[in-house]
Amino acid sequence: MTSQRTRERLINRLRDSGISNNKVLEVMLNTPRHIFIDEALGSHAYDDTALPIGFGQTISQPYIVARMTEILLETGPCEKVLEIGTGSGYQTAVLAQLVGQLFSVERISALLTKARKRIRELNFYNVRMKHFDGHMGWKENGPYDVIIVTAAPEEIPKELFAQLNDSGRMIAPIGPNGQQQLNLIRRTEQGYECQVIEEVSFVPLLPGNR
Ligand code: SAH
Repeated sequence: MTSQRTRERLINRLRDSGISNNKVLEVMLNTPRHIFIDEALGSHAYDDTALPIGFGQTISQPYIVARMTEILLETGPCEKVLEIGTGSGYQTAVLAQLVGQLFSVERISALLTKARKRIRELNFYNVRMKHFDGHMGWKENGPYDVIIVTAAPEEIPKELFAQLNDSGRMIAPIGPNGQQQLNLIRRTEQGYECQVIEEVSFVPLLPGNR
């Protein structure tokens, strides 16, 4: 169920869905998604679907992880990256292999503890994580080339814009449940340019931490 063939099937499916960045596909082929979910769901680890990870949260669908990652890699430098919503840590693990320094914040402490353990087991030393409300970003390490938001706000928190560098990009689902769009926002000399990528379905970005 976690065999190489099962993983290859997922990669072929991602390619058929339009993912074309070979670096992203290779990293996803070699990243063990099954360690990011409960054993009981192990047989679905390489399905192209979101899966529950407890606390009403989900591990993102592989297609979405791939799509967000390839867009970020193809639109500019990714030396310093901030992720909002660590969740299982799967998107974190994929990014860790493709970017310089990665910072990730999560509001649910129990999820962060598990994610931290997985990231450590996989020996990714360029990742730092924090139990924090992502509405506030992680100011001390900014500004960032990239901010990736993996839970949907109805509006991008102002503080996140302030933590992007002069040519920074942010990728984020925006909108209420059932009506979200994935947006790529680029900071330019004139201001912010926003491009809608596609319709998506994420859990909401919630206030505070627990
Ligand atoms: N990329 C993750 C997605 C997890 S779902 C994965 O593939 O596993 C989104 C995560 O965002 C959840 O774990 C949720 O707890 C977290 N989240 C929601 N609001 C947040 C906030 N304000 N700050 C930090 N994390 C938040």
